[in-house]
Amino acid sequence: MNVHIHPSVDNGVKKGSGSFAGGTLVCKCKDKPVKVGIKGDVAHNHACGCTQCWKPDDAVFSVVAVVPRQNVTVLENSDKLHIVDPSKTIQRYACKVCGTHMYGRIENKGHPFYGLDFIHPELFQESGSAAPGFAAFVSSVIESGVKPEQMDAIRGRLKELGLEPYDCLSPALMDAIATHVAKSKAA
Ligand SMILES: [Zn+2]
Ligand SMILES: [Zn+2]
Repeated sequence: MNVHIHPSVDNGVKKGSGSFAGGTLVCKCKDKPVKVGIKGDVAHNHACGCTQCWKPDDAVFSVVAVVPRQNVTVLENSDKLHIVDPSKTIQRYACKVCGTHMYGRIENKGHPFYGLDFIHPELFQESGSAAPGFAAFVSSVIESGVKPEQMDAIRGRLKELGLEPYDCLSPALMDAIATHVAKSKAA
Protein backbone atom coordinates (compact mmCIF):
# COMPACT_ATOMS: atom_id res chain seq x y z
CA MET A 1 0.00 0.00 0.00
CA ASN A 2 1.20 3.46 -0.92
CA VAL A 3 0.75 5.72 2.08
CA HIS A 4 0.50 9.42 1.35
CA ILE A 5 1.27 11.73 4.24
CA HIS A 6 1.80 15.14 2.64
CA PRO A 7 3.26 16.12 -0.76
CA SER A 8 6.22 17.92 0.86
CA VAL A 9 7.41 14.78 2.67
CA ASP A 10 6.14 11.87 0.56
CA ASN A 11 9.45 11.67 -1.30
CA GLY A 12 11.48 12.01 1.87
CA VAL A 13 11.89 14.83 4.36
CA LYS A 14 14.09 17.62 2.97
CA LYS A 15 16.55 18.91 5.55
CA GLY A 16 16.53 22.62 6.33
CA SER A 17 19.57 24.70 5.41
CA GLY A 18 20.12 25.61 9.07
CA SER A 19 20.53 29.25 8.05
CA PHE A 20 17.10 30.11 6.65
CA ALA A 21 16.72 33.88 7.03
CA GLY A 22 12.98 33.96 6.32
CA GLY A 23 10.89 34.32 3.20
CA THR A 24 7.48 34.90 1.72
CA LEU A 25 4.41 32.68 2.07
CA VAL A 26 2.21 32.80 -1.04
CA CYS A 27 -1.38 31.53 -1.35
CA LYS A 28 -2.56 29.40 -4.30
CA CYS A 29 -4.28 32.20 -6.26
CA LYS A 30 -2.91 32.83 -9.76
CA ASP A 31 -4.33 36.34 -9.64
CA LYS A 32 -3.34 38.71 -6.81
CA PRO A 33 -2.06 36.09 -4.37
CA VAL A 34 -1.89 36.91 -0.67
CA LYS A 35 1.75 37.28 0.38
CA VAL A 36 2.95 37.08 3.96
CA GLY A 37 6.53 37.90 4.94
CA ILE A 38 8.24 35.79 7.61
CA LYS A 39 11.43 36.87 9.33
CA GLY A 40 13.82 34.14 10.33
CA ASP A 41 13.44 30.36 10.42
CA VAL A 42 10.45 28.32 11.65
CA ALA A 43 10.41 26.23 14.85
CA HIS A 44 8.68 22.99 15.90
CA ASN A 45 7.85 22.15 12.30
CA HIS A 46 5.73 18.99 12.19
CA ALA A 47 3.12 16.98 10.37
CA CYS A 48 -0.28 17.43 12.03
CA GLY A 49 -3.27 15.11 11.77
CA CYS A 50 -5.83 17.38 13.44
CA THR A 51 -8.96 18.42 11.59
CA GLN A 52 -8.34 22.18 11.98
CA CYS A 53 -5.03 22.67 10.17
CA TRP A 54 -5.11 23.48 6.49
CA LYS A 55 -4.02 20.65 4.19
CA PRO A 56 -3.35 20.69 0.46
CA ASP A 57 -5.68 18.56 -1.71
CA ASP A 58 -5.53 14.83 -0.91
CA ALA A 59 -3.06 15.23 1.97
CA VAL A 60 -3.86 13.29 5.14
CA PHE A 61 -1.65 15.54 7.27
CA SER A 62 -0.84 19.22 7.31
CA VAL A 63 2.72 20.45 7.75
CA VAL A 64 2.75 23.28 10.26
CA ALA A 65 5.38 25.22 12.22
CA VAL A 66 5.56 28.24 14.49
CA VAL A 67 7.26 31.64 14.27
CA PRO A 68 7.17 34.59 16.71
CA ARG A 69 4.10 36.70 15.84
CA GLN A 70 6.22 39.84 15.47
CA ASN A 71 8.04 38.08 12.62
CA VAL A 72 4.84 37.83 10.54
CA THR A 73 3.79 40.66 8.21
CA VAL A 74 1.09 40.60 5.54
CA LEU A 75 2.77 42.06 2.46
CA GLU A 76 0.19 41.92 -0.34
CA ASN A 77 -3.56 41.53 -0.86
CA SER A 78 -4.51 41.59 2.81
CA ASP A 79 -8.10 42.38 1.74
CA LYS A 80 -8.44 38.72 0.67
CA LEU A 81 -7.77 37.42 4.19
CA HIS A 82 -10.51 36.42 6.60
CA ILE A 83 -10.59 34.50 9.88
CA VAL A 84 -11.89 30.98 9.19
CA ASP A 85 -13.64 30.58 12.58
CA PRO A 86 -13.35 33.46 15.05
CA SER A 87 -14.61 31.20 17.89
CA LYS A 88 -11.49 29.00 17.74
CA THR A 89 -8.44 29.49 19.99
CA ILE A 90 -6.22 29.76 16.94
CA GLN A 91 -7.56 32.43 14.58
CA ARG A 92 -6.65 31.07 11.18
CA TYR A 93 -6.26 33.77 8.55
CA ALA A 94 -7.11 32.25 5.18
CA CYS A 95 -7.43 33.51 1.61
CA LYS A 96 -11.14 33.93 0.87
CA VAL A 97 -10.60 32.92 -2.76
CA CYS A 98 -8.37 29.80 -2.68
CA GLY A 99 -8.92 28.80 0.96
CA THR A 100 -5.22 28.54 1.83
CA HIS A 101 -4.48 29.28 5.48
CA MET A 102 -1.72 31.89 5.64
CA TYR A 103 -1.16 32.15 9.40
CA GLY A 104 -2.90 31.21 12.63
CA ARG A 105 -2.75 33.54 15.64
CA ILE A 106 -3.67 33.13 19.30
CA GLU A 107 -5.09 36.26 20.95
CA ASN A 108 -5.54 34.74 24.44
CA LYS A 109 -2.54 36.04 26.40
CA GLY A 110 -2.90 33.21 28.92
CA HIS A 111 -2.45 30.49 26.29
CA PRO A 112 0.82 28.50 26.43
CA PHE A 113 1.50 29.28 22.77
CA TYR A 114 0.55 32.97 22.93
CA GLY A 115 3.11 34.95 20.93
CA LEU A 116 3.62 32.25 18.31
CA ASP A 117 1.89 32.19 14.94
CA PHE A 118 1.26 28.92 13.10
CA ILE A 119 2.31 28.81 9.47
CA HIS A 120 2.62 26.24 6.66
CA PRO A 121 6.26 26.24 5.44
CA GLU A 122 5.28 24.60 2.11
CA LEU A 123 3.91 28.03 1.12
CA PHE A 124 7.37 29.59 1.21
CA GLN A 125 8.61 30.77 -2.19
CA GLU A 126 12.09 29.99 -0.88
CA SER A 127 13.50 26.62 0.14
CA GLY A 128 15.64 25.79 3.17
CA SER A 129 13.33 26.36 6.15
CA ALA A 130 13.68 23.91 9.06
CA ALA A 131 12.31 20.46 8.22
CA PRO A 132 9.40 18.76 10.02
CA GLY A 133 10.66 16.68 12.96
CA PHE A 134 7.65 14.72 14.25
CA ALA A 135 3.97 14.03 13.65
CA ALA A 136 1.28 15.32 16.04
CA PHE A 137 -2.35 14.29 16.59
CA VAL A 138 -1.82 11.21 14.45
CA SER A 139 -4.93 9.33 15.63
CA SER A 140 -7.06 12.37 14.68
CA VAL A 141 -6.74 11.57 10.96
CA ILE A 142 -9.48 8.98 11.61
CA GLU A 143 -11.80 11.95 12.22
CA SER A 144 -11.13 13.13 8.68
CA GLY A 145 -12.01 9.80 7.13
CA VAL A 146 -8.94 7.56 7.41
CA LYS A 147 -9.94 3.99 8.27
CA PRO A 148 -8.67 2.77 11.68
CA GLU A 149 -7.14 -0.27 9.96
CA GLN A 150 -4.89 2.06 7.92
CA MET A 151 -3.27 3.48 11.05
CA ASP A 152 -0.49 0.89 11.33
CA ALA A 153 0.62 1.70 7.79
CA ILE A 154 0.43 5.44 8.46
CA ARG A 155 2.42 5.23 11.70
CA GLY A 156 4.92 2.93 9.98
CA ARG A 157 5.41 5.37 7.12
CA LEU A 158 5.80 8.32 9.51
CA LYS A 159 8.52 6.43 11.40
CA GLU A 160 10.22 5.53 8.13
CA LEU A 161 10.26 9.26 7.27
CA GLY A 162 11.78 10.06 10.67
CA LEU A 163 8.57 11.76 11.83
CA GLU A 164 7.94 10.10 15.21
CA PRO A 165 4.15 9.75 15.53
CA TYR A 166 2.43 11.17 18.63
CA ASP A 167 -1.28 11.25 19.34
CA CYS A 168 -0.98 14.64 21.02
CA LEU A 169 1.99 17.00 20.57
CA SER A 170 5.67 16.07 20.91
CA PRO A 171 7.04 15.58 24.46
CA ALA A 172 8.89 18.94 24.21
CA LEU A 173 5.67 20.79 23.41
CA MET A 174 3.58 18.87 25.96
CA ASP A 175 6.24 19.76 28.56
CA ALA A 176 6.07 23.42 27.50
CA ILE A 177 2.28 23.41 27.99
CA ALA A 178 2.51 21.69 31.40
CA THR A 179 5.26 24.11 32.52
CA HIS A 180 3.04 27.03 31.54
CA VAL A 181 0.12 25.55 33.49
CA ALA A 182 2.31 24.88 36.55
CA LYS A 183 3.67 28.44 36.46
CA SER A 184 0.22 30.01 36.13
CA LYS A 185 -1.02 27.90 39.09
CA ALA A 186 1.98 29.02 41.18
CA ALA A 187 1.37 32.68 40.32
ZN1 LIG B 1 -5.58 32.77 -2.52
ZN1 LIG C 1 -3.26 20.57 13.27
